Amino acid sequence: MEGFAELNHNLFNNLKMYMRMQNINLSPHFELREFTGSATARKYGIVNEPPAEAVENLKALCVHTLEPLREALGLPIVITSGYRCKALNDKIGHHSDRSQHMKGQAADLVVHTDSTDDTDNRRKRLIQAFRQILTDPKISFDQVIIYPSFIHVSYVSNGKNRRKITKGYGNGKYCALTRDEALSLI
Ligand SMILES: [Zn+2]
Repeated sequence: MEGFAELNHNLFNNLKMYMRMQNINLSPHFELREFTGSATARKYGIVNEPPAEAVENLKALCVHTLEPLREALGLPIVITSGYRCKALNDKIGHHSDRSQHMKGQAADLVVHTDSTDDTDNRRKRLIQAFRQILTDPKISFDQVIIYPSFIHVSYVSNGKNRRKITKGYGNGKYCALTRDEALSLI
């Protein structure tokens, strides 16, 4: 019984540590739990817990990309998908960008809008954020993909950030754009 009590104690401590970790701030406006919460993970009982290296990557993504974007827009950014462990990515990894989510280098986001906002307004905010990412010298990024209903953006801290710009059509089709093409088309 002693062994069992000890095991329970350890499990409890691990759980407490995990809960604490979820609440850590990655940058002034972003908490780790925003990047790990997933309805799909909950549905399938997947513990989507990032290793320390992925947490460091998420922090770099916040500091160099998401926080400057949030500051410039002056509007809350909602992370719709951040870190994905392998089990979670296997369930929803339908983007071409899957590996960057698995390393904590990427996030999918929307700009917060009022619940009464219509689709046009949501799309307008998304385009505003996309243009800000492309034109703001304070925002670094490796790849940005504008999809019909969200933006994927990534940052790498251990290599060159390519500033790759892509339009995603949401049906598995992608189109690479130069900065000028993106600014004139979107
Ligand atoms: Zn993505």
